[in-house]
Amino acid sequence: MASRVCETPACNSEAKLQCPTCIKLGIAGSFFCSQDCFKGSWSEHKKVHKKAKEAENEKSGLFNPWPGFHFTGKLRPYHVTTKRTVPDMIQRPDYAEHPEGTPVSERQLKGSTNIKIMNDEEIDGMRLAGRLGREVLDEAVKAIDIGVTTDEIDRIIHEACIDRECYPSPLNYYGFPKSCCTSINEVICHGIPDLRPLEDGDIMNIDVTVYHRNFHGDLNETFFVGNVGEKAKHLVKTTHECLQMAINEVRPGVRYREIGNVIQKHAQANGFSVVRSYCGHGIHQLFHTAPSVPHYSKNKAVGVMKPGQCFTIEPMISEGTWRDEMWPDNWTAVTFDGKLSAQFEHTLLVTDIGCDVLTKRLENNGQPHFMDKM
Ligand SMILES: [Zn+2]
Ligand SMILES: [Zn+2]
Repeated sequence: MASRVCETPACNSEAKLQCPTCIKLGIAGSFFCSQDCFKGSWSEHKKVHKKAKEAENEKSGLFNPWPGFHFTGKLRPYHVTTKRTVPDMIQRPDYAEHPEGTPVSERQLKGSTNIKIMNDEEIDGMRLAGRLGREVLDEAVKAIDIGVTTDEIDRIIHEACIDRECYPSPLNYYGFPKSCCTSINEVICHGIPDLRPLEDGDIMNIDVTVYHRNFHGDLNETFFVGNVGEKAKHLVKTTHECLQMAINEVRPGVRYREIGNVIQKHAQANGFSVVRSYCGHGIHQLFHTAPSVPHYSKNKAVGVMKPGQCFTIEPMISEGTWRDEMWPDNWTAVTFDGKLSAQFEHTLLVTDIGCDVLTKRLENNGQPHFMDKM
């Protein structure tokens, strides 16, 4: 056996003791001649351990940015990669260039309950934005698989937007760091794409909004990763039914506050609860504006539906409590009890006789993707 030399600089003695931490961490080398020499080198040597651990965490993407924070469920944050850029030639909303991502035009109308009625040209703009949003989501769906990171999903969405001359609306909205929201398991909404690989049995919502030639189109669906449990399937199916039943109610003369009654009735009949902190919203040249459309019953939403209005319905339905909590990133909304939550969203246009679903899927009779796997 080759004789080893003590790691301590200028010691040069024959070394037989190996650092036990290095053995545990799988670091090669780290031999010392004696306990005294090892102790004497400790303050320098321990940096090797720190570096190895950091490298390991970097590789797996796992880190804990909020020591002491109590997580409600099993999901943890992973590294978020740097913000992606959008070519200058693509038209963007005001907040895209704002240092804090403030949507100044939206803020100016804050508190107003006036619901915009669009002219024919604006309606055409909304139809196109809705269709492009749908195309972008469908591109991302192809990539969903065990081991794929939500960062990769975000990259696909970002590039699919650029390919279609769209700005990804979430990017820099109030400073949001990514181009879509990916909400896994107990995450209700606004999850930030990161380096966590998708796991067998996850449910994941992808929320896409695109901005094309002045108009936003907004939709989301919840997807199955690998084999999903029966309870999760029931939750996802029920959530989609809630959206569908709500859409069936949309026509001129109906109050916006009615939507929540239909959704909560169906959710409760299936043993689930309705999230109250996040609502559907008016959408057109502005990403989020009047009306506010709560998904829970007996709400006080203002406004009556009229032809030419555009808004979203996007119920978030939870397995346990309706209560939510925010991660310290100030975006990720999770269930208070750590149980699952699912969501579906469409952008709708009120017509003379009912509504058009501007973000509907053009294949499989408009059925959401999870149904292909039921
Ligand atoms: Zn959305
Ligand atoms: Zn929305």
